[in-house]
Amino acid sequence: MPRASVGRSRCKMAKKRIYYRDDGYMMEFSPWHPFAHKSGYAFQHRLAMEEKIGRLLWPWEHIHHLNDIPWDNRPENLALMTLREHKSMHARRQHGTPYDFDTILRHLVDGMTYPEIAKMYGRDKSTIVQHMTSRGFYKSRDLLAAVEKAESVQASERE
Ligand SMILES: [Zn+2]
Repeated sequence: MPRASVGRSRCKMAKKRIYYRDDGYMMEFSPWHPFAHKSGYAFQHRLAMEEKIGRLLWPWEHIHHLNDIPWDNRPENLALMTLREHKSMHARRQHGTPYDFDTILRHLVDGMTYPEIAKMYGRDKSTIVQHMTSRGFYKSRDLLAAVEKAESVQASERE
């Protein structure tokens, strides 16, 4: 089967040389990279961000994993920040800003997404989702009802 073997060899060529470090970070072989370690490997999240923004990162530019999973290097999970911003972000996360069911509901009605709300309160997305579902909130149906209620309140306030 010539086709399959062509596919396989192409696949092999495209395969990146990566490994997981013990601390959860993914390393990618990229000896050409100016900030690669002596081994020729560089942090994959930094390479991914460079690809996303189309330039090299400065050493003082840090990458934060929004969902706190260090090997999740999907572009949408990566946030570029200075070392200082990154430190204060983690300090804030540790303390966390208090939230409750009603505030989160209001944010959802305002059109914020769970990841945005989680970021705002320095929590994991799953923590916020759990907070809502454990109180019987199911996104699509209940949110629609909440939006309608909010709109009718606004309408009656206008009258
Ligand atoms: Zn971080």
